[in-house]
Formats: sequence, C-alpha cells, structure tokens
Amino acid sequence: MEKVIIMGSGCAGLTAALYTARANLRPLVLTGIQPGGLLTTTTVVENYPGFPEGIDGYELTSRMQKQAERFGARVQFATIEAVDLAQRPFVLTVDGERMETETLIFARGGAHRHLGLESEDKLESKGVTYCAACDGALTAYRNRPRVVVGGGDAAYDDAL
Ligand SMILES: Cc1cc2nc3c(=O)[nH]c(=O)nc-3n(C[C@H](O)[C@H](O)[C@H](O)COP(=O)(O)OP(=O)(O)OC[C@H]3O[C@@H](n4cnc5c(N)ncnc54)[C@H](O)[C@@H]3O)c2cc1C
Repeated sequence: MEKVIIMGSGCAGLTAALYTARANLRPLVLTGIQPGGLLTTTTVVENYPGFPEGIDGYELTSRMQKQAERFGARVQFATIEAVDLAQRPFVLTVDGERMETETLIFARGGAHRHLGLESEDKLESKGVTYCAACDGALTAYRNRPRVVVGGGDAAYDDAL
C-alpha cells in the first residue's frame, strides 16, 4: 500500500512529488500518457524564474523529475483508470491493476477552452495561443496587433 500517489507528472505533479518526497512520504507519481505534462510540448519557457535565457520545456520538466527522484519520489509510466474514494485506503485501478493509497493527489492538468472556429486548430502556435503569460511577451508577438478573446478577469489580466 502506498502512502501518497500523485496522478500526473506535469509541473504540478512533480512539484507535489518534490515536497512529499522531502517530507519522507516516498510518493509514487503515475505519469499518465504524457510524462512531463504539457510543458514538454514547448521549446521555450521564458517566465520560469532562474533561467534568464529561457529553458526548453522538456528539459525543465526532466529536471523537475530528477529533483523529486533525488529525494525518493518514484515515477511510473501508468494511467489511473478509476478511483474509489468511498473507502479508506483509497482504491485505484491503474492499467488494469488494483492499487491502494492513503492519499491521492490530483495533478491531472486541464484543457484549453476552444472557440470552435475552423481555422483555430490550423493556426495554433502560428498566431493563435491559449496562454498570454506564456506567449504574450515572445518576440514573435511584440509590436504586432493582438486580440484577447473573453471579457472576464483573466481576459483583462492577459490584455494588460
Ligand atoms: C505549447 C504550450 C506552451 C506553453 N508554454 C508555457 C510557458 O512558456 N510558460 C508557462 O508558464 N506555461 C506554459 N504553458 C502552460 C503549461 O504547460 C501548463 O500551465 C502546465 O503544464 C500545467 O501543469 P499541470 O501539471 O497542472 O498539468 P499538465 O502539464 O497538463 O500535466 C497533466 C499530467 O496529468 C497526467 N494525467 C492525466 N490524466 C491522468 C490519469 N488518468 N492518470 C495519470 N496521469 C494522468 C498527464 O499525463 C500529465 O502528465 C504552455 C502550454 C503549452 C501547451
């Protein structure tokens, strides 16, 4: 039986792994189908402190994994298919196998909300982006007209 299982191996899961490993809880990180998470799909991350020249997303998450492993975190390529939180310890189905854990940390990421335009998928990363904090300051977009879709707090933040 595990003390801590972490669902997801993006920056959230690996951060949770670092902290729980350093607390001697020997967390088990189950990666899901995308080890390292979404950040592995980008070549440059410019807003992460400590990397003045920016850093490749895959390199950054690989370093996060190594850092967590250094303190005893274990990382397994596996997907959680079902969870039963009605009993303790929690019961998980992981790639068809039963697993038990005292604690389960959800770090399974989110999804972009698309507008549903035909051109949207075609132009993703070629002018259409879903993260102003990530891409708004990139040279490619500087001093060019930009449009933010939305009218809530996040849209105003992003426009700023
Ligand atoms: C192209 C691109 C560029 C980006 N650039 C930047 C940037 O420059 N700066 C920035 O701050 N942000 C950037 N982002 C956003 C950043 O990648 C996300 O904010 C970040 O990855 C969220 O981390 P997360 O750990 O919450 O989730 P994710 O990275 O989405 O990770 C989710 C994890 O959960 C796992 N998972 C899902 N379901 C299961 C399951 N059933 N069982 C086990 N595991 C499961 C997945 O396999 C994955 O490992 C970018 C995103 C993209 C797509």
